Amino acid sequence: MNRWRDLYCGELRPDDVGRTVAVAGWVARRRDHGGLIFIDLRDHTGIVQLVVNPERSKEAAAAAHAIRSEFVVHARGEVVNRAPDAVNPNIATGGVEVQVDELEVVARSEPLPFQLDDDGVEEPLRLRYRYLDLRRDRMQRNLRLSATVIAAIRRSMEEQGFIDVWTPTMTLGTPEGARDFLVPVRLQPGKFFALAQSPQLFKQTFMIGGLDRYYQIAICWRDEDLRADRQFEFRQLDLELAFPTREEVLEVLENVMVASFESLGRTPPARPFRHLSYADAMLRYGSDKPDLRFGVEIQDATEVTRGSEFGVFANADCVRFLVAPTAFSRAELQRLEDFAKEWGAKGLAYLVVDESGEVRSPIAKFLSADELAAFAAPPGSTVLFAADSQAMVERVLGALRSELGQRLGLIDDARDELLWVIDFPLFLPDEETGKWTFVHHPFTSPLEGHEDLIESDPGGALSQHYDLVWHGWELGSGSIRVHQQEIQERVFRAMGMTDEEAQAKFGWFLEALRMGAPPHGGFALGIERVVALFAGEANIREIIAFPKTASGWDPLTGAPAPTTQERLSELGIKLQTPPA
Ligand code: ASP
Repeated sequence: MNRWRDLYCGELRPDDVGRTVAVAGWVARRRDHGGLIFIDLRDHTGIVQLVVNPERSKEAAAAAHAIRSEFVVHARGEVVNRAPDAVNPNIATGGVEVQVDELEVVARSEPLPFQLDDDGVEEPLRLRYRYLDLRRDRMQRNLRLSATVIAAIRRSMEEQGFIDVWTPTMTLGTPEGARDFLVPVRLQPGKFFALAQSPQLFKQTFMIGGLDRYYQIAICWRDEDLRADRQFEFRQLDLELAFPTREEVLEVLENVMVASFESLGRTPPARPFRHLSYADAMLRYGSDKPDLRFGVEIQDATEVTRGSEFGVFANADCVRFLVAPTAFSRAELQRLEDFAKEWGAKGLAYLVVDESGEVRSPIAKFLSADELAAFAAPPGSTVLFAADSQAMVERVLGALRSELGQRLGLIDDARDELLWVIDFPLFLPDEETGKWTFVHHPFTSPLEGHEDLIESDPGGALSQHYDLVWHGWELGSGSIRVHQQEIQERVFRAMGMTDEEAQAKFGWFLEALRMGAPPHGGFALGIERVVALFAGEANIREIIAFPKTASGWDPLTGAPAPTTQERLSELGIKLQTPPA
């Protein structure tokens, strides 16, 4: 290759025996066997064993003595077969080693803050020294897997006739349900750009502009609490098509997902992906992103409990239950009740059916034969109930179902099922204000024929919004959009926005809708989520090179950081709490 190396460390094979080669990399391990020194030299392809023998090279042996872990080393020597009892069948280079003639320490390393083969290192320390963490197999594997998937996604999009167009990151607020990150502007003190929560309005504008099929791996910024599947900044495969049917949009995404599976040599899930309506998903799984790798479906018992002698059931708007495949002990039931209460339940009624089929429950005596028949469950199971408002019942049983899936080990990891959740409501009441607010974003079209419900029954209007779900994660969302200005204004009004407010926030876009806007629709797929699931990681931080911690800062650079009074004055900003 060049003066440093002829090949990568992990590439040496028995075929190379007899060659003189140069290799370079990091010292993973150095063992001193009284006289002979063994060095495991590592790069991103693997490890090769160097043997330094003072009888072969005095200079190399002297250099080897000073070497420590993670020194950067360059060596030249002869590839030989290892002695039969020294062969390491666990690594690809395990049959050979390099007998060193020249050894050069290219860069030294201080003692490390953690050992690279220690799997128990706390995350803040890993992030503080991310460059060391990146040398480890896990991060190498994850970042390379990510690059493979992104390349496959781009290829698929190009093959499907989409063109890659860039959109501004500094813009006006884009309503995706989070807060905007604001950027002050020195030349216009007192004014702020918002970092785009997504390219939503720009991509719709592309359709009005006749671009027909747009895509971009777009960075999005959202100021919201961080979670396992959320960071302040993340990437989306963002796309939009003119004159589409919903099925066409879904097909584009299915092609992308299949290409991603194939790029990793994995068998893609069956197509078309399963469809589930929002209403069904909420009823059967208590979630609009159900994990389909296990059963434990929720069942409705509202009807059968209307005349119940158990007042909690009779008086609740909604009664539902699920059957856990195990007969829980009293202590376990107590823990589950505490869990349900954390999610807002007032209690957790249950029927335990023990192995002999006998029912144990403080409420059984209040239940009629009809009720008991409706809740019939096999021996060795527990029926768990929620009785409350429908929204609370969905929330509690949805959370309980996920918890049971984890706790009882019900999840079948080998099962890859991708799911489309469709027919979402257009609006839901905002939890704090009670006002109607969009479920997806305000540019989502009502379902055909539901336009008049915008005013007459906002809560009953369904939309053309769809989500892609995998393993209980929402991979992405999209919709067929409103393309008529008049309907767009009606949606804004239904959300309690005055025409003046709508004009101030979205006037430019309402104007564009008046100048020949074709029907259009699109989608955005969360790249980090897709990659994390492919990598088998439970947190997207594991597939991001430099993520923020859960509390929202970067231990490597120390960002975010205070700024100087001078910078603030230039920007026309006065802090309520002056910088420390
Ligand atoms: N802008 C939407 C989002 O970021 C996706 C879309 O509707 O295309 O979720």
